[in-house]
Amino acid sequence: MTKDHQDDTAPPSDIELSVKALESLLVEKGLVDQEAVDALLELHENEIGPSNGRRVVARAWADGGFKRWLLDDPNGAIASMGYVGSQGDQVRVLENTDDVHNLVVCTLCSCYPWPLLGLPPVWYKSAPYRAQAVADPRGVMRQFGSEIGDNREVRVWDSTSEMRYLVLPQRPPGAEGWCEEELRDLVTRNSMIGVEEAQRPATTQTP
Ligand code: FE
Repeated sequence: MTKDHQDDTAPPSDIELSVKALESLLVEKGLVDQEAVDALLELHENEIGPSNGRRVVARAWADGGFKRWLLDDPNGAIASMGYVGSQGDQVRVLENTDDVHNLVVCTLCSCYPWPLLGLPPVWYKSAPYRAQAVADPRGVMRQFGSEIGDNREVRVWDSTSEMRYLVLPQRPPGAEGWCEEELRDLVTRNSMIGVEEAQRPATTQTP
């Protein structure tokens, strides 16, 4: 374990143990329901947490000037939207293009841009993802339902506590003229980690 990574494989800290003990007590006393706690965590992992990242990506898609700022000075551009705080101090934004697709992993633990994406999903912290993302990133993406053509280079980035990454997915076709708010719905948490592409607008149309 290098000092660059949070020591996530070490025994839990006093705070983590206290939180766990408190949670167990609240559940045991019937004051909270375990399912409600799990639902809350799930919400932070999948909805509330990544919503800041979605806003950043949607703004970059909608505003070329902001996109250039985001790529040149990510910390300044992100701070201008108010997203600062622990675990997000040094962020680099990786732009997906027709030639390059970027995928993020933390090979040693679970370094992650918390202010932008919230809590890391369980699979991101898992040993199989950490190993396979490096050895076979295209295979990982296939498991998430995305196929990357051989004409595109896949670059894998290893996060540390000092440098975390946000993938700027490609703006999907079919969303021309959409406003920032509408574009946000196409930005998935997983597309900002790079294991999948952004969603395409629904193609279903009433005849
Ligand atoms: Fe790490």
